[in-house]
Amino acid sequence: MTNEVYLDANATSPALPAAIAAAVDAMQTRFGNPSSIHAAGLRARALLDDARAVAGRVIGVGDGDVIFTSGATEAIQTAVLSALCDVRERQIKGEAVGELLLYGATEHKAVPECLAHWNRILGTGLAVQALAVDADGLHKLDELQTLAPRAALVCTMAANNETGVVSDLAAIEAVLNEHAPRALWLVDCVQALGKLPLQLSATRIDYAPFSGHKLYAPKGIGMLYVRRGAPFTPLMKGGGQEDGLRSGTENMAGIAALGAVLHALEDGQGFRLPHDLYRLRDQLAAALSVAFPGLVFNMPFERSLPTVLNFCVPGASSNDLLKLFDAAGVRLSAGSACSAAKAAPSHVLGAMGLADARAGSAVRLSFSPTATDDFIDAACARIARCGAALARHAPPPVEGKAPSPVLVDRGDADIHIEDLAAFLQQHPDARLIDVREAFEHAAGAQPEWHGRQVDNLPLSAFEGQIELCLAEPQRALLLFCRSGNRSLDALCMLRAAGHANVYHLAGGLALATR
Ligand code: PLP
Repeated sequence: MTNEVYLDANATSPALPAAIAAAVDAMQTRFGNPSSIHAAGLRARALLDDARAVAGRVIGVGDGDVIFTSGATEAIQTAVLSALCDVRERQIKGEAVGELLLYGATEHKAVPECLAHWNRILGTGLAVQALAVDADGLHKLDELQTLAPRAALVCTMAANNETGVVSDLAAIEAVLNEHAPRALWLVDCVQALGKLPLQLSATRIDYAPFSGHKLYAPKGIGMLYVRRGAPFTPLMKGGGQEDGLRSGTENMAGIAALGAVLHALEDGQGFRLPHDLYRLRDQLAAALSVAFPGLVFNMPFERSLPTVLNFCVPGASSNDLLKLFDAAGVRLSAGSACSAAKAAPSHVLGAMGLADARAGSAVRLSFSPTATDDFIDAACARIARCGAALARHAPPPVEGKAPSPVLVDRGDADIHIEDLAAFLQQHPDARLIDVREAFEHAAGAQPEWHGRQVDNLPLSAFEGQIELCLAEPQRALLLFCRSGNRSLDALCMLRAAGHANVYHLAGGLALATR
């Protein structure tokens, strides 16, 4: 199989080798509990203090706090809970607190969902209202001016996860200073870390959540910046860790790993300079435009992070494009990773005024700020291959698919990747059939697998092939696709037609790729 070209960094990133080493060290050598007063505990405490210190320098916390959390979602909950508890106390005292919880229309769902949740649980009774963005994805400042005087809390992200659009935080701050001097301000900095300079204590930002796994640390670690003097209510009470701000024994492996990433960022180790990243993004954009005639970008280049491209290809759905790229070993996504499982068009592109049809066919490409020139060259070569495959084989029109017959007893029909070699040995004349669409098969450039020829019989035209497959009932058939779903459909069709000697690769090629 081809090696993977991972271009979905805004969804998550692999851990940096230094982060893995630091996590292992925190589990093996400096494994103490940082609350213990013996030497093992003190060694862990030093590690924790060091991670907090480097975080403080990288994001410029000044006299504010950095609290380690399980990720950005927890950091957002903590910030919103803190703000709303303050609102409630002031409501009880009869103070005017404003009636709106305002959030940018393109925020990650973690923000509005959290606002609605805690507003309901705490009974604060504020209106959760979206602040519109313009066609470039920038917050409408005139609307902010109108709404800000009524806002108790304003939430605006630093950079958008789907489009990379960088908010004009200085302009937002100016509006808040003039029109909402008492409103609290949360800025989701998840996608900004490592890509934009941050000096939080120089701003009036009250809360800023971060996520480790978006920048080479493992999943399950994040942090929250809290401005000195900003209201605070712990989300988790218990043993009093994190100075009582977030109880629970610290995730030391995660904290050590995040600390290692932040040290690398501080020292510039491997992190590319902005002008290099812009050059790499432009190279990818040019490769895409050549490979897919008519391709349109859905973000303003001059107002976006240098590591993100969001685009549509006329005549191809996002699903088609993701399958095409996936077949070529290129991993990217349609919108955010969290909404990938929901088929709805992107709310971010919708808020920027894109019609549903276009918002529903968008694809996001995002790379990490340590990407090398060689990596981007390899990505461009794959993009060219994908373009050529799509030009040769148009995706089939989307039709209401007839339900496949349900196979009650699959028996031994599932072949798992670890059993594949043995299966092929037992069935030396087995026919390998790729049931993915022709454009995917071509992008995969895989005429052979395990030294055997591969035939392509796409599922969309599979019915027409059943008779031919039945003509050789003694010859085993091994069907495969990307995830194992389409091969199972085809298997059910053949078994229902009476072919007993047919198998499929359970879990698909995805599990065969490392
Ligand atoms: N905010 C933004 C902008 C994000 O992109 C994400 C993750 O996709 C989150 C918040 C949630 O982060 P976490 O996975 O650390 O909870």
